[in-house]
Amino acid sequence: MGLGQPDGRRRLPAVDTILGQSLLADALRDRGRVAVRAAVRAVLDQLRLEWREGSAVDASPEGVARRALTVLDRERRNLRPVINATGILLHTGLGRAPLAAEAIEAIREVAAGYCNLELDLADGGRGRRASSVAGLLGELTGAEAATVVNNNAGATVLALRALAAGREVIVSRGQLVEIGGSFRLPEIFEVSGARLREVGTTNRTRLSDYRLAIGPETAAILRVHPSNYRIVGFSETPELAELVQLAHAHGLWAIDDIGSGALGPGCPPGEHDEPTAAAGIADGADLVLFSGDKLLGGPQCGIMVGRREAIGRIEVDPLMRALRVDKLTLAALEATLRLARDPSLAAGRIPLWSMIAAPAREVHARAESLAEVLRSELGLAARPIPSEAYVGGGSLPVRAIASSAVAVSRPFPVRGRVESEAAFAEALRLGDPPVVARIAEGDVVLDLRSVGRDEEPRLLDAIRAVCQDMGGPATARRDGRGASSAEGPAGTDLRSGGRKARA
Ligand SMILES: *Cc1c(COP(=O)(O)O)cnc(C)c1O
Repeated sequence: MGLGQPDGRRRLPAVDTILGQSLLADALRDRGRVAVRAAVRAVLDQLRLEWREGSAVDASPEGVARRALTVLDRERRNLRPVINATGILLHTGLGRAPLAAEAIEAIREVAAGYCNLELDLADGGRGRRASSVAGLLGELTGAEAATVVNNNAGATVLALRALAAGREVIVSRGQLVEIGGSFRLPEIFEVSGARLREVGTTNRTRLSDYRLAIGPETAAILRVHPSNYRIVGFSETPELAELVQLAHAHGLWAIDDIGSGALGPGCPPGEHDEPTAAAGIADGADLVLFSGDKLLGGPQCGIMVGRREAIGRIEVDPLMRALRVDKLTLAALEATLRLARDPSLAAGRIPLWSMIAAPAREVHARAESLAEVLRSELGLAARPIPSEAYVGGGSLPVRAIASSAVAVSRPFPVRGRVESEAAFAEALRLGDPPVVARIAEGDVVLDLRSVGRDEEPRLLDAIRAVCQDMGGPATARRDGRGASSAEGPAGTDLRSGGRKARA
């Protein structure tokens, strides 16, 4: 058996010979031939390299098989859980809202088999896809009717198309927002086929501006929540109720895109500044649009509540078919809405609500004890510091939530070497599980308001691994994917800590 000679003449064993090794039998059964063969090829490539460099290597079929097993062990899914220590609770680059255990269980139940997605169990006939949530949404917001699509951007396009294609929709210039880099209202209009009629100025739009813009082409008035910015100081916009009154006096639709989607007062607890779906309905809007994965803390979706006639027109639009949600989304949404019926219960069950509601002293105590462990066990220069968390996701841009973080200062040990704060943050991001932290004034900062209590042991393990692992380069680098993962999926620059709240 061969400690191979780097003489270039010796041949490496054939792939099929290696695949025939009994060592690989379990892996072939559990992981499949394609994955195992790819791992074997990767090892053979590596061996050729090592040979060329003159190292003595174990090129026996058994030796190659053993190495292939470690490659398979290390292989991870591309999309995997990450610990969010940015302090931004709804981080689009990190997948927004974590789901409640009840929502996860609901997904599990319908995912494994069939369900009555479009079957009316009572009469055996065809049912409406959204019927499982429409009643709950009506109860929670006061709306006559409701439906759900893939996300709120889709809901906006669909609403404009179904209610105003080929006609004009009046919007205040102060509300022509761009949210999260790709939701730009003028472009949404273009896709919908409705025409945007801008009125007023960036900081002031009066009711009379809307009134003067109404003509034979007008179909609707749209109010858009500016979500990720605020105009403070000399500014003015009419109340929703005034816009609704004006719209209805002229036979127009009144549409309210509230974006973040607080359901009603106290949902989530402590949120009083955000517009709510219930208030939009109470003010008479024909349609209120919001995201399922922002303040509601549910799955990604676009929720539409309002008058039966408006929802009916939306549901028969062909675009509805392209934007419809699947059984997994509906299962998670229904479970989340059931929790939201009792806000005090939901505050402990919907993770986003718990993170918003956690008392500052509790977060501080967690930061203190984590810093203590990092100091005493790992010798890190770690201390608890006051921090500011944000809901993010286009919600509550101005108001910070008092939080606490662990700040780690120089020296930063990364696998036995002293490195910069950027290298330490990178090693955390490439670790297992990946940890996304902030960098601030030379420190690596871990905000604990966005870290679940149950995630703390894994957070600690990940930091331990970075400090103690004396092995080679980070795992994610070995397959060449590590470097590119620095850029978040939505282009969020996580290297700077992802501090920018993305909608
Ligand atoms: C976030 C947001 C959207 C887009 O919602 P998605 O669910 O991300 O598609 C649209 N409008 C407003 C006002 C928002 O805040």
